[in-house]
Amino acid sequence: MPELASSRIRAAVKDTARAALDLLFPINCLGCGKEGSVICVQCAGNLPRLERPYCDICAQPGIDGQCEPCLEHPNEIDGIRAPYLFDGPLREAVHRLKYRGWKAAAPVLGGLMADYLEDRKIPGQALVPVPLHPRRLRGRGYNQSHLLAKETGKMLDIPVRQDLLVRTKDSPPQVESTSSEERRANVAGIFQASPEARGTSVILVDDVTTTGSTLFACAETLKDAGAESVWGLVLAMDS
Ligand SMILES: [Zn+2]
Ligand SMILES: [Zn+2]
Repeated sequence: MPELASSRIRAAVKDTARAALDLLFPINCLGCGKEGSVICVQCAGNLPRLERPYCDICAQPGIDGQCEPCLEHPNEIDGIRAPYLFDGPLREAVHRLKYRGWKAAAPVLGGLMADYLEDRKIPGQALVPVPLHPRRLRGRGYNQSHLLAKETGKMLDIPVRQDLLVRTKDSPPQVESTSSEERRANVAGIFQASPEARGTSVILVDDVTTTGSTLFACAETLKDAGAESVWGLVLAMDS
């Protein structure tokens, strides 16, 4: 891991230790069990990376150029990028962040995203977290994608714009639909963009992607509203 990267993760690990106080119990590394962070500096360096080849558009691994679904159904998104595969301690960390209230995982996971974004230089003036439907937001109390975008934005000094995209319809959870057509149909027409999206270049932020359908729907909505470029950045690809 480069020097800068590991110092960022080190700082995030310290943040986690502070945030852990909110959980009222110690946090241990999900990789090695060491106390202090959801993923320690050492284990962060050993997470399984998504390496090329992968689809230029949806980041599906093992494909050179564009995968068949992306060729058959061209989408407005400029591309999705993911530093990691959804596996091992990272999978567990995301699960805890999403479903078990472990907001303390956000600084380290956001740090991993910041390291990647800084290296790859995906163009974007603003980070736009994939919005949750207000009902789901009330249930969970927070949007994990917003937490990740906030941490990443803070580290790289990129503004987070939650106002550019809202979710107007709830969609059934992705796991319930099987085919990629079904998933695309599920998320069509559920987002709404602000007129302020016109002329902006944005990076959508989400925790995980499988087929990319949610990010595709967001990108289409933003491009319809006049956004100049829309990239997607997710922590991990679940293929
Ligand atoms: Zn560890
Ligand atoms: Zn693809």
